[in-house]
Amino acid sequence: MEKPLTGNFRSDKQAVSLEDYERAGGYQGLHKALTIAPADVGELVKKSGLRGRGGAGFPTGMKWSFVPMGKDAPHPKYLVVNADEMEPGTFKDRALMERDPHQLIEGVIVAAYAIEADIAYIFLRGEYVCSHDRLERALAEAKTKNYVGHNILGSGYNLEIHLHVSAGRYICGEETALLNALEGKRAHPRTKPPFPQVSGLFGKPTIVQNVETLCNVHHIVKNGPDWFRGLSKTEDGGTKLYGVSGKVKKPGLWELPMGTPMREILEDHAGGMRDGLHFRGLLPGGASTDFLIEEHLDTPMDYGNVQKAGSRLGTGTMVVLDDKTCPVGMVWNLEHFFAQESCGWCTPCWSGLSWTEKILLAMEQGKGSRQDLDTLTFQTKFLAPGNTFCAFAPGAVEPLQSALKYFGDDFRKHVDEQRCPWK
Ligand code: NAD
Repeated sequence: MEKPLTGNFRSDKQAVSLEDYERAGGYQGLHKALTIAPADVGELVKKSGLRGRGGAGFPTGMKWSFVPMGKDAPHPKYLVVNADEMEPGTFKDRALMERDPHQLIEGVIVAAYAIEADIAYIFLRGEYVCSHDRLERALAEAKTKNYVGHNILGSGYNLEIHLHVSAGRYICGEETALLNALEGKRAHPRTKPPFPQVSGLFGKPTIVQNVETLCNVHHIVKNGPDWFRGLSKTEDGGTKLYGVSGKVKKPGLWELPMGTPMREILEDHAGGMRDGLHFRGLLPGGASTDFLIEEHLDTPMDYGNVQKAGSRLGTGTMVVLDDKTCPVGMVWNLEHFFAQESCGWCTPCWSGLSWTEKILLAMEQGKGSRQDLDTLTFQTKFLAPGNTFCAFAPGAVEPLQSALKYFGDDFRKHVDEQRCPWK
């Protein structure tokens, strides 16, 4: 990753072998990190401007700085990799784990070293069987080279890494629900604060970090924070894996400078819309983000600029809506998924989302009313942060609230004509 890679990832290709990984400079970031004090590794990451790639974009170095350090810190400390990639339309972590498992493992070791963690868990989505097999093999290889285990490369630092297969719920991607699942409990989110950095897995200091985020860490240590910032077109450091799905000519996934404009991703990399179709909008970061439309095409795709445009970068994997697809049907499909995935812990979420989904289905089947439109609008306001236990339901209604704003006529046509105009 000396220069940003462009090109399509194909998960059916072989994983990069340990030999090829090392030949390309792999594990040099670890060698270098072990010569630096752990807190100073964290400082390098802080200066690099790396922000969490799981969707929220929280500054990574700052997050690590909340972990108690030094001889009085409680142990064991944990690093937990959030590899439970379940955001609809999102397949970036899968590509990283299937194609370059050592890159993740090196990132895990360096990040764990930086927070003086004793144990790391990779919490992996159950359906990611290929990722599992390749990570398992790569972990065994890393152990034989003493990159993992006791007295790593003679540094005195010890780290165990375990691969844990998720039982499979969207909410397991929320870090505190994930920690409960890892402890063998039901995957309900916990109240924050306390944040996991001080009281996480089994009540001990824990960093939960996304796969793509960790894949950047050792490159920062090896090449320096200025190099990392220089890869980006905007304020947020580094490169980003951007994905596009929907009816474009070349759906795929590309590593590009952070802040690459949406138009460039859609037209130059995804090849533009399929013949005969026109762009109507997209969800920038998987499903739990607000739609952006044609007027936003020149938005630099980073955390700040996408927020200014009225949405969130989220996972950076865009789901495109074209002019021959029904927006009501598309949003119903998403809300159906979210209603099913509600953990059931708080009533506004489980009841509100299933109510919302039923209304959208009725509209799509030509049974909606004007009053239903008011109910949908109410739900998007009611399922807001503060009214629900966690961020799941507020995220789930983001596509609906922006669809009502940008495609309101389509919703009205469904109820006035008592049919889906696309059928
Ligand atoms: P969040 O903002 O609550 O937390 C993000 C991270 O920052 C966490 O590690 C948290 O501990 C830390 N953090 C936030 N505020 C903090 C504070 N005041 N002090 C210390 N640490 C703090 O976001 P979240 O609920 O973890 O994630 C929501 C995002 O996840 C959404 O953007 C959504 O798009 C995304 N998401 C991704 C997937 C996926 O498959 N990758 C799945 C579901 C959701």
